[in-house]
Amino acid sequence: MPKLPPETSDFIAELDTAVEAHMNWTRRILRFVVLRTSPGEDVLSPMAHALCRFGIWFTSHRAQFEALDAQATHHVEAAHRAMHDAIRSICSAVLAGQPGQSADLEVFEQSQTELLGLLASFKTLLLSNAARYDPLTGLALRYGIESDFDHCQKDALRNHSLLYVVMIDVDHFKRINDRYGHPAGDLALRHLASTLKQNLRGSEPLYRYGGEEFLWLMQCKSVEDAMQSAQRLLNTIRTTPIPIADAPPVTLTVTLGLAQVGAQEELSSAISRADAALYEGKHSGRDRYVIAKP
Ligand code: GH3
Ligand code: MG
Ligand code: MG
Repeated sequence: MPKLPPETSDFIAELDTAVEAHMNWTRRILRFVVLRTSPGEDVLSPMAHALCRFGIWFTSHRAQFEALDAQATHHVEAAHRAMHDAIRSICSAVLAGQPGQSADLEVFEQSQTELLGLLASFKTLLLSNAARYDPLTGLALRYGIESDFDHCQKDALRNHSLLYVVMIDVDHFKRINDRYGHPAGDLALRHLASTLKQNLRGSEPLYRYGGEEFLWLMQCKSVEDAMQSAQRLLNTIRTTPIPIADAPPVTLTVTLGLAQVGAQEELSSAISRADAALYEGKHSGRDRYVIAKP
């Protein structure tokens, strides 16, 4: 399994702890029914679902769950609440010296199973998302390019706009590692990725394609527009200093290979043309863009 970004590992560890807390809560109810120990406020209160450890943790991380799957987040809340409502009804009956209702017990069992199933799916989703993103730069890795490309190609046709596959390769990056060490190189790549991202339109996908190579799906109105965007990016990178530990900031340059995507063209074909253009840019002096032949 690829190394997980720390924030994903932390979130998964917290999720496991919250589920464990929920299992302890269930054990406490069993002890109450069998031994008549006090069940506690997070069982008997009408707001018990907001008082239990799982409920508190889930509420404080709701935004992260919602970003992953809004509908499933809503289902977690509903199942958690149904589970608490059913158990409160059972415990109130037991406290009054009466047997609980079997319908409540069924709701409790079903909603608990549903809750645990939903949380297991969230964990799977977190792990698969982590495998799709580069832990160093936070950019998407190449796995999703194909479907984004199809989407962008259709959009371009519909809007009478142009789509370019742009290969971006850092110039002489090996020298950064050689001079300042690999960790400084890592930091420089992270910084560069952030500069790239800030200079693209929000809707334009950017991937970490390989080591110090990035792929940009550029959307524009005309060839002139594409040339201007490429030149603007070169200028920004060239003039944005990158902080390096224990050394003055350095600046990097990149070379771009641009391929205007044909209406029926496959991604692999556009990438090879962009690659050929990039190769030409490297050999004609770097820090420039080259537009591929159709
Ligand atoms: P060119 O202008 O021809 O592209 O020169 P270059 O030095 O950038 O190209 P080359 O392919 O010779 O070297 C790329 C270097 O990028 C070598 C590799 O160690 C480094 N690199 C790739 N991925 C990473 C990474 O994640 N972290 C660090 N620190 N270095 C990396
Ligand atoms: Mg390279
Ligand atoms: Mg390079």
